[in-house]
Amino acid sequence: MHNGSRTWDVIVVGGGHAGCEAAAAAARLGARTLLVTHSLDTIGEMSCNPAIGGLAKGHLVREIDALDGIMGRAIDRAGIQFRLLNRSKGPAVRGPRAQADRAFYRRAVQALLREFESLSLLESGVENLALDGAGRVSGVETERSGTLGARAVVLTTGTFLRGLIHIGEETIPAGRARRQGRGMRDVEAPTLGLAETLARAGFRLGRLKTGTPPRLDRDSIDWCGLDRQQGDDPAVPFSYLTEEITTPQVDCHITGTTAAGHALIRENLHRSPMYSGQIESIGPRYCPSIEDKVVRFADRGRHQIFLEPEGLDDPVIYPNGISTSLPHEVQSALLRTIPGLERAVMLRPGYAIEYDYVDPRELFPTLETRRVPGLYFAGQINGTTGYEEAAAQGLMAGLNAALAAGAVGADGPPQSVVLDRADAYIGVLIDDLVTRGVTEPYRMFTSRAEYRLSLRADNADQRLTPRAIALGCASAGRTDRFRGKMTTLEAARQKARTLSATPTELRRRGLAVNADGVRRSALELLAYPEISVSDLAGIWPELAGLPAGVADQLEIEACYAGYLDRQDADIRAFRRDEALLLPDGLDFDQVQGLSAEIREKLGAARPATLGAAARISGVTPAALTALLRHVRRREPQAGDRLSA
Ligand code: FAD
Repeated sequence: MHNGSRTWDVIVVGGGHAGCEAAAAAARLGARTLLVTHSLDTIGEMSCNPAIGGLAKGHLVREIDALDGIMGRAIDRAGIQFRLLNRSKGPAVRGPRAQADRAFYRRAVQALLREFESLSLLESGVENLALDGAGRVSGVETERSGTLGARAVVLTTGTFLRGLIHIGEETIPAGRARRQGRGMRDVEAPTLGLAETLARAGFRLGRLKTGTPPRLDRDSIDWCGLDRQQGDDPAVPFSYLTEEITTPQVDCHITGTTAAGHALIRENLHRSPMYSGQIESIGPRYCPSIEDKVVRFADRGRHQIFLEPEGLDDPVIYPNGISTSLPHEVQSALLRTIPGLERAVMLRPGYAIEYDYVDPRELFPTLETRRVPGLYFAGQINGTTGYEEAAAQGLMAGLNAALAAGAVGADGPPQSVVLDRADAYIGVLIDDLVTRGVTEPYRMFTSRAEYRLSLRADNADQRLTPRAIALGCASAGRTDRFRGKMTTLEAARQKARTLSATPTELRRRGLAVNADGVRRSALELLAYPEISVSDLAGIWPELAGLPAGVADQLEIEACYAGYLDRQDADIRAFRRDEALLLPDGLDFDQVQGLSAEIREKLGAARPATLGAAARISGVTPAALTALLRHVRRREPQAGDRLSA
């Protein structure tokens, strides 16, 4: 709880996924941190679907965990159905996902935050930012505790900035519906004061929207005849620290929309705020409402609906797949057209919400704003959608805010921490945001990552935990466990490289390799998809008894070995361009040979490196050459700040 102090190293505003991760990260670096949020009870709240992870999102959760964030451990405590998606595809694109018990998840997040001695919590709205004479952030003005000072402030206000709920023709100013709320007027209030502050400070604000399905009463659903979907057994945890999942696991069920339901939606499209023109802002293309699906995929006769329990003891069912903002009575009528839901009781209607976001090109790659030094933004406020995207940004903003506020890492005082596109999906996410901006809610996909063979969910710890250890944000327990695993893995790699056999010996042992007389090492044999470590343990007992995680790693590394060498060469070329830093004070109007359009694009994004400039759409190789020539000739100037 808040200890009465008036000044802090870092103040984090918002107790959603970005805010919790930011507060935990800052506190882990030893910064005296205060998390201020509307309600302590809603810390760790899942505003929409009760699930964490999925394709590419699961990668983000593993990366957050590898940097000692809290999301992976929280979902391991709260998960009630774990599944590895894309299991039939290559390991690089498999995505861990888990269905959560909402209450368990909230409790797990709150318990994990309570472990930090240097973190305090305060229940209050934040109305305004406090700035010093030089325009640097110096704290926040709260509703209940007056002005509180801070060296750095992280804003994570989610869908609350001028939030406006839409259900049919009705609109309600709100940040989201209240968890237990039954009627649609039972909502959490929107954030208005801060939105005005940001607009006054000159931030480029835009408007986006998202939506959620109605919630149903479990006991009113006719479950017989619905397809059942089971989770993985055994469940594979998200966190590198979790030994096993002990929370009871449940099944989900599957139903689908019908032609009658589609006809009903078409008849009522004019009453859906998206189609009536009541909402003009853009929603998540990849998470469309049921109205969108029926219009965009007019030839499809059925859209799947997953009936997901919101908790073990919770009678609420989340019908994943029918997010909608149609009027209340149309939603009820729609349910009656869906097998199993003919008599379902709707506990709360679905709704759409519009909210303000800030153009993320206003940010440095550290997530600090260019306009107000010391102020950081993370999460939905930056135009993203999803818990995992929010948490990933929160973690990075929290670390950077703590470093800027003077926290000292294990290897001395680094000024900031930035991951690049070859380090992590987190690097891809933040680079996309700050160099390209957003035109619709941004969601992570594996296809956004150029180096996805290296950026796998299985090796996030090898990519990132050494960074966390060097930075000083990895716990002693994680550090020990990681080092132990790496020692075992290295010894196993060594053995697999040195143990070898001729084709004759291998064929005698039942392994069908070409009789070409070439000796093959165990590592080379593991590149054959049909050969596993346990097959080889029959030939070389030294390979028996490896921990499951280490055996899996050997198999995956062997399977990708040839491709990874090629990818390493690409990564070296990428990093050469990333090493060419562009000063933040660069005046693009002074660069000769650039078109007005390219000048405008560069001015809006202010890329931190030549590589980032190249990723802005429309920036040509000739423009890059002109830029490079200009930077090489230009004298360094006062106020220059190398932002990468
Ligand atoms: P939030 O989780 O929104 O948390 C914001 C926090 O800030 C809250 O704790 C709030 O109380 C606090 N706060 C705000 N203003 C202030 C202030 N002035 N003072 C103090 N505290 C403040 N994501 C998907 O991926 N797919 C979907 O389909 C999807 N649908 C959604 C539907 C709805 C209706 C909503 C509301 C969200 C949906 N989301 C969806 C988005 C998902 O919930 C967010 O991406 C995610 O929660 C963002 O996390 P965040 O931490 O940025 O913000």
